[in-house]
Amino acid sequence: MRIGIGGIWHETNSFVPEPTGLAQFRAYQYFAGAELVDALRGTGTELGGALEAVPRAVPLFFGAALPSGPVRRDAFEAMLRDLAVRTRAALPLDGLVLSLHGAMMADGHPDPEAEIVGTLRAIVGPVPIAVTLDYHANPGPALAEAADFLVGYRTYPHSDMAERGAEAAELVLRNPPVAHSLLRLPLLTPPATQEHQAEPMRSILAAADRLRAEPGVWAVSALPGFAYADCDRLGFAVYVAAEARAAERARALAAEVWSRRAAFTAELTDPDDAVREALRERSKGPGSGADSRSGPVVLVDVADNVGGGAPGDGTAVLHALARQGATDAVAVLWDPAAVAAAHASPGERLELRIGGHSADLMGPPITVRGRVDRRGPVTYARTGAYMRGQQVDMGRVAVVETGFGKAVLTENRVAPFDDDHLRAVGIVPEEAAFLVAKGAIAWKSGFGGYARKAVYVGTPGYCPADLARLPYRSRPAPMHPLESVGRDDLPFPLSLPLVEDGH
Ligand SMILES: [Zn+2]
Repeated sequence: MRIGIGGIWHETNSFVPEPTGLAQFRAYQYFAGAELVDALRGTGTELGGALEAVPRAVPLFFGAALPSGPVRRDAFEAMLRDLAVRTRAALPLDGLVLSLHGAMMADGHPDPEAEIVGTLRAIVGPVPIAVTLDYHANPGPALAEAADFLVGYRTYPHSDMAERGAEAAELVLRNPPVAHSLLRLPLLTPPATQEHQAEPMRSILAAADRLRAEPGVWAVSALPGFAYADCDRLGFAVYVAAEARAAERARALAAEVWSRRAAFTAELTDPDDAVREALRERSKGPGSGADSRSGPVVLVDVADNVGGGAPGDGTAVLHALARQGATDAVAVLWDPAAVAAAHASPGERLELRIGGHSADLMGPPITVRGRVDRRGPVTYARTGAYMRGQQVDMGRVAVVETGFGKAVLTENRVAPFDDDHLRAVGIVPEEAAFLVAKGAIAWKSGFGGYARKAVYVGTPGYCPADLARLPYRSRPAPMHPLESVGRDDLPFPLSLPLVEDGH
């Protein structure tokens, strides 16, 4: 069987003002034809998994950018055209496996993922099409209608991309006769509450696993979604593809999610209190006992979540570290101008104003004086559970020894999906006292194995855990927890108490 593989992958934070162009895709993941196989075979990515599962995969096109602001119209249209042209040239095809993140927003294209599948469907005809989706996808009915199978990640921090790619490929190869049901719950959840091994997602995913184990059930996803892509598809999505009773099963899973809605709440600490707590933790010294860890305290800069599209130049935690007299921290900061200044200056000791440049929200900048330990371009391959083998280009990097510790200034935005980005610049993350992680949960795949503690910090930024801070314009309403949700707003007959959590 000739199975085409490809996709366009982007998680769009619609509150970030800077648009995302083709350059950002080319800088991250941009592969056509045979390049796609060379780049992704053997990697822990969706298409890496699909390549393992499909004996005769036909590589089409794959473009991905790091999460960021809305995708420019010309960029989306150029990539979709390339994908379509290559699909047409590859005919006849017996099926498609597409890696689409599921939370893309593109100027002029209200439902980009549905449009991608619809465009390719018109080319390939009635052959099976399976789509992998991120845990943070916001799939709409048009996507579920256009595709035969949706396969969402089941882990956060994400580690099952290759397995889901292989699962999607196996569904295409077997092509079981299914009906599908996609339900959207009026429930908005911030990423910090969505860890797969913590409640409430642990129980929800266990319920999804039980459904998937039933005979005749071929695909089940429980997708908490991406609250920072302001669109009419927002919400917690459940999806079932089954030979019978797909809608009934999806309703049962949706009811399970809804019953646990009150548990999607995040506890954050003000920056100064967070640093004080981290200092107290360090002052205890290395703990004793089998479970104790001597590694860093992670200060989780939740709202400046690079993997959620935020810029990664927020300074709130750095100011708090400086105010509280903390030392031996490691913080990565996106600051191309400071990197350029560090490269231009012949002296080793510099005074730099770093961070806070992308918007007032992320500042003010912080002045640091110190030695520049390292300068130059840095690329690396991820070795951890997140997209193992994926190549990352940090651009030019300057590591500055500041009063609070090492500031890793980067020309490209760098997400803490791994700890390789620190090792690549000569930092041993286990030895730091504090790590500032610009993410919500994703940093755990890099630092989770040795961090002694995490403190979730309430910082300003584009991914606040308090969703009431966001100037939504296009989301559906009402949605829990921002409004009270009535009986008629739910996609299933209500057999549970509606007001158990006080709304
Ligand atoms: Zn995600």
